[in-house]
Order: sequence, then C-alpha cells, then structure tokens
Amino acid sequence: MIDVQHITKRYGAFIAIDDVTLTIPKGAIYGIIGASGAGKSTLLRMMNLLEKPDSGRVNVGGQNLTALSSKGLREARKSIGMIFQHFHLVANKTVRDNVRVALELARYPKRDQLARVQECLQFVGLQEMADKYPAELSGGQKQRVAIARALATNPSVLLCDEPTSSLDPQTTAEVLAVLKDINERLGITIVIVSHEMDVIKSICTALTVLENGHIYESFTHEPHGIKT
Ligand code: ADP
Ligand code: ADP
Repeated sequence: MIDVQHITKRYGAFIAIDDVTLTIPKGAIYGIIGASGAGKSTLLRMMNLLEKPDSGRVNVGGQNLTALSSKGLREARKSIGMIFQHFHLVANKTVRDNVRVALELARYPKRDQLARVQECLQFVGLQEMADKYPAELSGGQKQRVAIARALATNPSVLLCDEPTSSLDPQTTAEVLAVLKDINERLGITIVIVSHEMDVIKSICTALTVLENGHIYESFTHEPHGIKT
C-alpha cells in the first residue's frame, strides 16, 4: 500500500532520513518506533509529502506521489488521512464543523456533507457531541474528532503521528480501540509513529525501529492486545 524507495531528507547539513526503503502492506497496522529525534515524524510526513524528500520515491496506493503536480497531490491526499499528537482541531468551530472542513477542502457535495459528518462521528462514537467545541472535550474525544475528520474523505491510509502521546492510559486505550476498529471494519491501512513501545506492541502487525535516520530493524509482530 505504501512503498518508500531510497528516500533521503536533509535539514541543512543534517541528514534526518538517510536512504530509507520501506514497504507497508495493505491492511497492516504498521508501527514506526524510535527515540526522539530518530526521524519518525519526518519519515511519516514524507508518506503524504507534507515533507518533500530530497531524493527517492514515495508510492501510495500504486501512485508515485513524488511525480504528481500540486493538483494531483491534492487529489491523492484525499485518500491519505493524517492525525497528530496535538489533534490540530479548530478551536472556534464545533465538532461537526471541524469534521466538515475536510469535506469542504475536498469539494465534497454540500448537500451530502452533514450526513457524511454524522456517519464519521458515529464511527468514532461521538455522534452526541456534534455541537460541542473542542475545549469542552477530553483529550481522547479530541483525538476521536481528529480521526473522524481524517476519515471523512474515505481514505485508504491513515497516518498517525504520536496519536496517544498526549493522552493518559485510559484514553490511550480508547483511541487505540478506534484505530483497530477502523483497520478491521473499514480496511484502512494504518501507520503509527510512536516512542511508546507498549502502544506499538498492542495493535501493530509489523514494525520498524528507526535510529538516527536509518532503519535498525523491521519485523512482523503478533499484536498483544489493548490493555485497559
Ligand atoms: P522524531 O519524530 O523521531 O522525534 P523528527 O522526524 O521529528 O524525529 O526529527 C528528526 C530530526 O530532524 C531531529 O533531529 C529534528 O531536530 C530534525 N528536524 C526535524 N524537522 C526539522 C526542521 N524543519 N528543520 C530542521 N531540523 C529538523
Ligand atoms: P503535534 O502537535 O501533533 O506534534 P506539530 O505541532 O509538531 O504536531 O505539528 C506538525 C506540523 O504539521 C506543523 O508544522 C503543523 O503546521 C503541520 N500541520 C498540522 N496540521 C496539519 C494539516 N492538517 N495538514 C498539513 N499540515 C499540518
């Protein structure tokens, strides 16, 4: 589903990602783990070209992102959802409107937007919270809104950058359960970057250990299950 070939990313003289090659199979929950500064976030952000590699190729769903025009890339990104450690919700918009923004940006037909928003909120268990503002929600609920927003355009891939690192153990379990559900019921391939080994081992079916911009090792893995 995601095929990264020999990508390198430099910040000035510093090499954040050094000739990394990685294949993430369709249907995986794939973990990328490593210490702070290892390059995890940079690697993830190159999977939707939020960061441009200096060299190498990034294929998602059979499409070579590195060869697309900006218009082509905008279109391709509809099928690549992303969530972040700090949620990145819009504070002065309701939960409903936070999700709807994704549909507006994707030029989803106006008359179908509300129904689609409701469907996505229902999937993450927040259908009752549509009129709330982010400040009224718990961290776990905020992350679930972000997940609903990422799901709105029906992606085939969900990229998760430290999705539980701001959350306590209870809400971490809640968010991981939603991610697992999305993978199993919607067939979405999930990539999770985390420095928390417990999180990665609970749901990931394969993982890569990143160290100083290199792959230290990659292996398949039997998920341990979510501890609550
Ligand atoms: P991780 O996600 O594993 O913590 P990152 O991918 O965020 O690592 O960062 C990898 C390295 O690249 C770090 O040393 C970081 O300081 C550096 N880095 C990341 N983004 C930038 C940037 N925009 N400019 C300069 N250096 C950066
Ligand atoms: P987090 O708080 O999740 O660790 P950061 O604050 O490091 O994330 O933000 C990561 C980067 O992603 C920032 O440079 C931010 O501007 C950018 N960013 C956030 N949300 C989006 C988005 N929806 N699309 C593109 N870039 C985004």
